[in-house]
Amino acid sequence: MITLKSALNKSEEELKEIKAQIIAKVKDNIELNAYIGEIQASAGGVPILIKDNINVKGWEITCASKILKGYISPYNAHVITRLHENKMCAFGRANMDEFAMGSTSESSCYGRVKNPLDTSRVPGGSSGGSAAAVAAGLAIASLGSDTGGSIRQPAGFCGCVGLKPSYGRVSRYGLIAYSSSLDQIGPITQNVEDAALLLDAISGYDERDSTSANLPSLNTFKDLDSNARYKIAIFKNFLKDASPKIQEAYHQTIKTLESMGHSIIEKDMLDLSYHISTYYIICTAEASSNLARFDGVRYGSRAKGDSLKDLYYNTRSTYFGDEVKRRILLGSFVLSSGYYDAYYLKAQQVRKKICAQYEEIFNECDIILLPIAPDVAPKFGAMHSPLEMYLSDIYTIGVNLAGLPALSMPVAKDANGLSIGMQLIGAKFKEQNILNAAYGLEKELAL
Ligand code: GLN
Repeated sequence: MITLKSALNKSEEELKEIKAQIIAKVKDNIELNAYIGEIQASAGGVPILIKDNINVKGWEITCASKILKGYISPYNAHVITRLHENKMCAFGRANMDEFAMGSTSESSCYGRVKNPLDTSRVPGGSSGGSAAAVAAGLAIASLGSDTGGSIRQPAGFCGCVGLKPSYGRVSRYGLIAYSSSLDQIGPITQNVEDAALLLDAISGYDERDSTSANLPSLNTFKDLDSNARYKIAIFKNFLKDASPKIQEAYHQTIKTLESMGHSIIEKDMLDLSYHISTYYIICTAEASSNLARFDGVRYGSRAKGDSLKDLYYNTRSTYFGDEVKRRILLGSFVLSSGYYDAYYLKAQQVRKKICAQYEEIFNECDIILLPIAPDVAPKFGAMHSPLEMYLSDIYTIGVNLAGLPALSMPVAKDANGLSIGMQLIGAKFKEQNILNAAYGLEKELAL
């Protein structure tokens, strides 16, 4: 597939041809189930695939949930407006985990997405459709959202580059909220240059998002420098949860970075299991509140009920999937009086500690290198319980708790051709550093 960088130099006529080719290719690869709904453009420009939780005016938006079926967006998300201002357009809907809750893209009401590298395996989640389409050559680039790893982990499983921007860098206006203090929209692309281009296009201050950072707009593409050298922190004490393949790739990546002239500094960090419990308390609490609006009155599907209460009850019981219900229950529990102090408040305190630890590391280092997931993409059905799935988020969720930018990129392939990815984590608003380091590493590895 043509890269975003070259597509941006094409004429509208040539882009029409590319769009027609994409539609034909998607039809040929229907079994991947990466695209849902009709493929259409919302304007002229380079076609970008959009996750089904980002509003595009006039398009159906469902978050891959039955509860939102038939709901048409009345407005464009900020990122969509920014695409239009930068010679790009929304083109096609990407499949995902229901309401972006998950790590495998199996919970969509449209059916699961498959990994193009091995269709018996998951593509990762929740932006599984966004990553699978880019990896399969069905999209030039896509937008996903990352609350606890949902851009980086599917990009890692499918062999793409995925970038989660700093919290506040990209406006959340028009992104259907899962966990508002953690969510960020970001690019999934074929290479680092394209990630920089797409990040530059979608980032920038937006007064409609009260958490948007009022900073000068980014120019990371123009400033990309593969010769910049950094102090890179590594955590050996984190590796016990990773498979031998991932451990080997981590050590190999450290060696490569060192041979390129980066300085490697060994660090320790709080037990990662705290990241998991803190994240799952905060995200479920916020989700239970955010999803309260889907009651059958204002949006999408409505079940019958004799009273208003019955209508709410029947709509939510019928149209939410199991994982979403589980999280609403968990979230309501940790917020309920009697448990609030024991769980929610504690989690907020631990979150502060986690942020402080990252800050301390970034006083001395520029970048942290970590695996993305404990293993390569698992087979369908390999996760035996929701808890097992939650535990597999161990390497990605700390970044969201601290609002940091992180880029995931492929660094190796295993014997079966499955992608192994690593992530470069930066200090807040230092996207340029991780893009530069990734650009250099990508050139060096030449995979
Ligand atoms: N797997 C994590 C979760 O289920 C992350 C999801 C995401 O980033 N949207 O919450």
